[in-house]
Amino acid sequence: MIGFEYDIVVSGGGVAGLTAASVFGSAGFTVLCLDPAPPVTTRDQAGSDLRTTAFLQPAQALLEKSGLWARLEPHAADLQVMRIVDAGGIEPEPRITKEFDASDISDKPFGWNLPNWLLRREMVAHLESLPNVSFLPGKGTTSLFTREGEARVGLSDGRRVRCRLVIAADGRNSPMREAAGIDVKTTHYGQKALAFAVTHPIPHGNVSTEIHRSGGPFTLVPLPDYEGRPSSAVVWMEEGAEVQRLSALPQADFEGAMNQRSCHLFGPLTLASRRTVWPIISQIASTLYAERLALVAEAAHVVPPIGAQGLNMSLGDMRVLLELAEAAPDRLGDLTMLETYHRRRHAEILARVTGIDLLNRASMMRAQPLRDARAMALNAIYSLAPVRKTIMQLGLGARG
Ligand SMILES: Cc1cc2nc3c(=O)[nH]c(=O)nc-3n(C[C@H](O)[C@H](O)[C@H](O)COP(=O)(O)OP(=O)(O)OC[C@H]3O[C@@H](n4cnc5c(N)ncnc54)[C@H](O)[C@@H]3O)c2cc1C
Repeated sequence: MIGFEYDIVVSGGGVAGLTAASVFGSAGFTVLCLDPAPPVTTRDQAGSDLRTTAFLQPAQALLEKSGLWARLEPHAADLQVMRIVDAGGIEPEPRITKEFDASDISDKPFGWNLPNWLLRREMVAHLESLPNVSFLPGKGTTSLFTREGEARVGLSDGRRVRCRLVIAADGRNSPMREAAGIDVKTTHYGQKALAFAVTHPIPHGNVSTEIHRSGGPFTLVPLPDYEGRPSSAVVWMEEGAEVQRLSALPQADFEGAMNQRSCHLFGPLTLASRRTVWPIISQIASTLYAERLALVAEAAHVVPPIGAQGLNMSLGDMRVLLELAEAAPDRLGDLTMLETYHRRRHAEILARVTGIDLLNRASMMRAQPLRDARAMALNAIYSLAPVRKTIMQLGLGARG
């Protein structure tokens, strides 16, 4: 039975899908957003997403436009300095430390860090305030039928809805992408990431720190104080078997291992949350559209968590889609709009996926001569001020 009609169906209510629903809902489009897994919106509940998202500078305007920024800003930690540490010598200690300060290129911080569970809480609350948006947690999309003028989307409760555009934000195994028959190219690294929160005696001073040794980076990203103590979110990448071993260690042994790996930069770290494990891959879809369907976020591209690119690239997808939709609302979801979306985003996404793949491989390196070459490259890049500034701007997505 055909029940409803919407401008847009957003398949997926992860951070990207909830953002898409907010962005297009705030712009006045009628939106249905679905997710079979209801969002977990408290920190310590089972299944909560303890990753954090560092929203980089260009994200702010889109979040403001969608009405989300005012809700998020009070919970955000500023990221003023990005510190890269090479600890790839014989001993696990810093041998090169370079700091990239946002004040070299702008009067704003590089970005703002927020926990993903909190993003879900605030985004769901925002959707409730938008009368033209319906969010259906506990229900998913099951089928896709399209023709030139519309899409018909089957839902897990047996209904079908009609819309002009389907936005697939349903993750790296996107069912809508598969229903449309779009291929992906996937790279496996044999790597996983541990994501968790810590407290530490030395304040982070709004410095985000990426420590490279082997196996992948160990990254500390500032959070607001937790229970009165300075706090950071950690992403620790290693070979998959090592991550499984680390995640199963008793707390004291785990803290010993992470203190060695963090080179004691903030004093002894204390584990302040569960440890969560995430598989690491790179992936890119061969095309970003099919008839009446646009892929965004991890349905379109997945990158290892280096340089806070993942969700920020996703916001880039939404920025372009919104611009096209607002420029010609009567052409929402038509072939011209979707071809333009693909043309404006795919090459940029491919460049970022390729660049982050290289950075990840450099960070994983085990052989000592390669680790030494990596340290020399960091020194060389840093010592040339124009190169340093260009890299900062590219990292932000402020230059294409
Ligand atoms: C350890 C780690 C740290 C990261 N740190 C950062 C960072 O600092 N900055 C940054 O920009 N990015 C970061 N990222 C990337 C970022 O977390 C992801 O880009 C973001 O969470 C992607 O979310 P998504 O909504 O595309 O996918 P998901 O979170 O996977 O959401 C997809 C949703 O689709 C739903 N779904 C599945 N099937 C259906 C269906 N049939 N119908 C409807 N819905 C369906 C799922 O239930 C799920 O909720 C990090 C990633 C990792 C692994």
